[in-house]
Amino acid sequence: MSIKNNLLEIKSTLPENVTLVAVSKTKPVSDLMEAYEAGQRIFGENKIQEMAEKFEQMPKDIEWHMIGHVQTNKVKFMAPFVSLIHGVDSLKLLEEINKQALKYNRIIDCLLQIHIAEEETKFGLNEEELNEILKQVEQDKLKNIQIKGLMGMATFTENQDQIKKEFLHLKSIFDKLKTNTPQLTTLSMGMSGDYQLAIECGSTMVRIGSSIFGTR
Ligand SMILES: *Cc1c(COP(=O)(O)O)cnc(C)c1O
Repeated sequence: MSIKNNLLEIKSTLPENVTLVAVSKTKPVSDLMEAYEAGQRIFGENKIQEMAEKFEQMPKDIEWHMIGHVQTNKVKFMAPFVSLIHGVDSLKLLEEINKQALKYNRIIDCLLQIHIAEEETKFGLNEEELNEILKQVEQDKLKNIQIKGLMGMATFTENQDQIKKEFLHLKSIFDKLKTNTPQLTTLSMGMSGDYQLAIECGSTMVRIGSSIFGTR
């Protein structure tokens, strides 16, 4: 299967309200261009340096999403062009994004990452920390960021029941927040192995890499 065929096949199965982020990390620009030529305009990368290099080389109507963990001191390298940062998990990071966005007179969209997996190693906030950050954001009046929703990653396991439980947990946090903050529109959950389940559980944005571009 070609990248184009993989992409079109996945897109044909996605409900209209679900956005596809094509996760192109480690892949060469020629692979991304194949997806671009098949109509894809949203690409996800997990390293700022790599994303910045690809941004330079590729057409300028692409939306670049940062899906990896972000170090505060690297925000400045993506602030001129990034359109959505998925993995925000501290107030300090939000403040830095706000500061860098201001320099470029931009408003940068962000998702707050929630820890839903069993594994200790996955980044993210618990519900209490999430509420604390949202409160702080309101008080600080950070004008150059906009929180659009939440992101999460399920445990790396074959156990579908467990993955489902974790996705539904994230969805319930999202729904609770939305009652007070209707501008939250985005729930980023689901990757190649679990995106169908994620959509069943209410995902509005899936991040798919290997099923489009092949294994890394
Ligand atoms: C790599 C990555 C993906 C895509 O993973 P695939 O299994 O290749 O679809 C999605 N989300 C994040 C945060 C990633 O780092």
